[in-house]
Amino acid sequence: MAAAATQQSRSIWRALDLLGDWATLLILESYWLGARRFGHIERLTGLPKTVLSSRLKILLGAELLRQREYSCRPPRSEYRGTRKLMDLFPAALAMYQWEERWGRKDSKFVITLKHRACGDSMAPIAVCGRCREELDPRACAWKAGPGAEFMQSGYARRRRRRAETTVRSGLLDTCFQVIGDRWSGLVLHSVFSGMNRYDELLSATHAASNILSDRLKWLCQSKILCRQAYQRAPARYAYRLTARGRDLYPILVALLAWGNRWYPVAQGAPIQLSHQSCNQPLELAFVCSACRQPLELGAIDATITTAPAAKLTGDANHFRQLHNS
Ligand SMILES: [Zn+2]
Ligand SMILES: [Zn+2]
Repeated sequence: MAAAATQQSRSIWRALDLLGDWATLLILESYWLGARRFGHIERLTGLPKTVLSSRLKILLGAELLRQREYSCRPPRSEYRGTRKLMDLFPAALAMYQWEERWGRKDSKFVITLKHRACGDSMAPIAVCGRCREELDPRACAWKAGPGAEFMQSGYARRRRRRAETTVRSGLLDTCFQVIGDRWSGLVLHSVFSGMNRYDELLSATHAASNILSDRLKWLCQSKILCRQAYQRAPARYAYRLTARGRDLYPILVALLAWGNRWYPVAQGAPIQLSHQSCNQPLELAFVCSACRQPLELGAIDATITTAPAAKLTGDANHFRQLHNS
């Protein structure tokens, strides 16, 4: 695993550089909740105007959103998701699946998904697209692909805002705390790639040691990772995934696939994942928990309600709108 320790995937890096940001994820969540206009996004996210404006600019620049004029006098425009945003559908399903299993149960919102083909309410289940076995990272292998390259840390330092996590309670809160911090995302990506020791993680993530220590401590406190001593004097630890942590795997696979599609490396995919149960390259897919049929974009009706039962927005057709827009 020594070679792996010095190689990183540019695509996951780019994906997390853009999406590994709490405020950005809140904006995307509000989009999934049906918000299209600045004021509506502001109300749903609770973000200060300046933060919201800067993140919307980033999302426009990255071509996840585009502006569409809905009135010319006075000129007013709203935000629309692009194909690149729609392509985050598997990542959104993966986040939803994780939050259902492991997230806080006191969320302000309740989301109910209905599979249009079978008519049942259901949860998405991440599976191998080839053999349909439920995804378990322990049955998946990782190897560096032709496009793997040595990565230099290129992050602008943005501070984690832990205080924000207590400010609001939305749909995907817990999940956002983990993925919405790019360093935590990179640490997890490295652990999933088979790196477990502090030094390996340090060189794989290119994080400063205080940042890495901080994230490891936080990931252990959040019961995503656990620490096992492998040497007594001096004390040395290996970091292992808990069941809760292992379940984040589909999210990272979805983000990796998204990064590969939208930020391709000329030489080929930087990371090759394979499913050992069927011995095929890993392709993430989702099936309906009720009928076990594959879930495609546009196959799900989402109803979002605030707790207790008052409707928040008319977003039942949101995934369909995404599909048709
Ligand atoms: Zn398989
Ligand atoms: Zn179904």
